[in-house]
Amino acid sequence: MAARLLDGVSVATAIRAEVAPGVAGFTSKRGRPPGLGIVLVGNDPASEVYVASKLKSAGEAGLRADLHRLPAAASLADLMAIVDQLNENDACDGILVQSPLPEAMGVDAERRVFDAVRADKDVDGFHPINVGRLVQNRATLVACTPSGVIELLERSQIPIAGKRAAVIGRSDIVGKPMALLLLHRHATVTVCHSRTANLAHVVSDADIVVAAIGRPGFVTRDFIKPGAVVVDVGTTPVSDRATIERLFPPGSKRREAFERRGQLVVGDVHPDVAEVAGALSPVPGGVGPLTIALLLKNTLLAAQARASV
Ligand code: NAD
Repeated sequence: MAARLLDGVSVATAIRAEVAPGVAGFTSKRGRPPGLGIVLVGNDPASEVYVASKLKSAGEAGLRADLHRLPAAASLADLMAIVDQLNENDACDGILVQSPLPEAMGVDAERRVFDAVRADKDVDGFHPINVGRLVQNRATLVACTPSGVIELLERSQIPIAGKRAAVIGRSDIVGKPMALLLLHRHATVTVCHSRTANLAHVVSDADIVVAAIGRPGFVTRDFIKPGAVVVDVGTTPVSDRATIERLFPPGSKRREAFERRGQLVVGDVHPDVAEVAGALSPVPGGVGPLTIALLLKNTLLAAQARASV
C-alpha cells in the first residue's frame, strides 16, 4: 500500500496564516513591522534562490526584510561589520546569514559569524545560547528545518511520545536539533551518521525516520519498518543522469522534469520507500516550504520577545 503523503505545503500555509495576525498586531502596536536582515555573500546559485524565496515570503507576511549583499571576495571582517550593524539596529529583530559562506573566508567563518549574531536576533537558532536552551527544552528560537519537521508531524497527527525515532545525520543545523526536539516530545531517539555500523538495521527499528544527509536516494526500502513514518529532509541538486535513472522510472513525473530541466533536486529517501512506509514527507513538497514558514514565525517571536524586554 502506498504511504500517506505528509503535505508540507498546506502545513506551511497554515503556519503563515497564524503568523499574519501576530505581525499585524506587532506592527500596529510598535509602529513598524518586525524586521529581518538577510546577509548574502557571493552568488552561489542555490543561495540566490533560497534568499529570493525568503525575501518574497517575508514581504508577503508583512515583515520588513532587507537584503545586505557582499561580493564573494569580501573578507570575514566585512561580513562581521554588517552583522554588528544589524545587531545594533533596533528595527532589525532577526538576522540570517545565508550559508554556505565562500570557502576563502576560512573553515571556521560560519561558526564565528553565527556566534557573532545577537542571540535574541538569531532566527536561525544557531547561536550557542539558543542551542543550549534547546538542550534544556526552553528555547524560543530553534533551527527552522527541524522545527518544521515537528510541525509537520504534529499537525499531521503523527504520535511522537513513546515512539522509536532514528535521525540520520548529526549536523548542528538539522540532525542534532532534530534529535533534541524529538527527545523533548518523549521519543526514544537514535542519532545515526556516516560511521554508524549496520545503519539499515538500526534504522529499521524506528517508527519515525528523519533523513538529513544529502545523499540522493540513500535510504532504501530495506531501511524502513513497514508502516513507519519517514521524513525526507535531503535536498541535493542532481544533474547526473545515472542517479536519476536509478531513482525514477521512465515516464514518471520526476523523470520528465529532469528531461526538461537537466537537473532535479532529489531527497535522501528512495521513492520505493513509499511502498513500505505508512507516511512519507516527500521532496519536493515536504519539509522545504516549512523551513521558510518557520523563519517567518521565528522572526515574529524574536520581535515580540525583544519588544517585551
Ligand atoms: P551536513 O553535510 O552538514 O551533514 C550531513 C550529515 O549526514 C552528517 O552528520 C553526516 O554524518 C551524515 N552522513 C553523511 N553521509 C552519510 C552516510 N552515508 N550515512 C549516514 N550518515 C551520513 O548536511 P545538513 O546541513 O545537515 O543537510 C542535510 C541535508 O538536508 C542536505 O541535503 C541539505 O541540503 C538538506 N537540508 C534541507 C533543508 C530544507 O529546508 N529542506 C534545510 C537544511 C538542510
